[in-house]
Amino acid sequence: MTNVLAGVIGWPISHSLSPRMHAFWLREHGIAATYVALPVRRHGLSRALQSLSSAGFKGVNLTLPHKEAGYALAHLADGASHATQAVNLLLFREKMFEVYNTDVEGLARSLLDGLGERATGIERAVVLGAGGAARAAALACDRLGAHEICVLNRTRARADALVRTVSQSVAAKLAARDWTAWQTLATGTTLLINATSAGLNGTTSPDVSLERLPAGAGVCDLVYSPLETPLLARARACGLAAIDGLGMLMHQGALAFELLFGARPEVSPPLRAHLEQALCHEA
Ligand code: NAP
Repeated sequence: MTNVLAGVIGWPISHSLSPRMHAFWLREHGIAATYVALPVRRHGLSRALQSLSSAGFKGVNLTLPHKEAGYALAHLADGASHATQAVNLLLFREKMFEVYNTDVEGLARSLLDGLGERATGIERAVVLGAGGAARAAALACDRLGAHEICVLNRTRARADALVRTVSQSVAAKLAARDWTAWQTLATGTTLLINATSAGLNGTTSPDVSLERLPAGAGVCDLVYSPLETPLLARARACGLAAIDGLGMLMHQGALAFELLFGARPEVSPPLRAHLEQALCHEA
């Protein structure tokens, strides 16, 4: 079998854990393949994709700032990509670009791991943020059967735009609210997801109090560097279930790995330890 070529495109990209994660699974499965980090600036995506396609790449993961542009360039897209208008995996099929959004299912699986059966009984989920990660979070909550999803963002207009984009695809009651609405929403919220980049690399976590969340509620932070964000530390201190961003990263990666390399990898404790080691060195 010829060596399969794949990678992850982003800017910046040097911090990405994807090459380490895919190399771990490739070793585990004995697959002859190369998965590399590819630094590509915002305006270079289309050209980079043409070059990689010509070079025989099987596909690439897309991360910031390319998730939305990747959708715009696609010829074929899965349901989650259509719903979020953002993608994190692109496969080269002849001259066509086939795209997927595995973030949605990746987060749903991580929430199931972290919350067990509580993940399928969400009364109200509050999603903080309105970028691509927040769209995936809203969709993931809907797939899990949440009754109500509220989107709060620092810039209200972006929360409104998110609701317009995904509302066609969700069964839940979905609404954008002002950030200040948290005070009244908290008491009935069974899942809070931070899908903002606040808390990333030592920045301040979102300014939301957790004291009024009901017992048994979960708090999930999509930020995974640091792994224990100030928001998650506060959640644990309040006795709430805390779910870090590494679970979503591993599960979205496992789904992408299967599409790229044809084998179903395991999201295992040794993989988590291997990734945590890299995060420790970064810190
Ligand atoms: P994005 O499109 O750049 O959106 C960033 C969001 O964060 C916006 O809603 C922005 O609000 C908000 N924000 C930034 N700084 C803030 C602050 N200080 N206070 C309140 N809100 C703030 O980014 P994205 O792609 O959605 O990613 C968001 C986060 O999710 C990143 O940290 C990313 O690393 C993480 N992520 C994790 C995974 C995973 O597998 N765990 C996957 C995808 C993304 P405005 O609209 O007001 O600017």
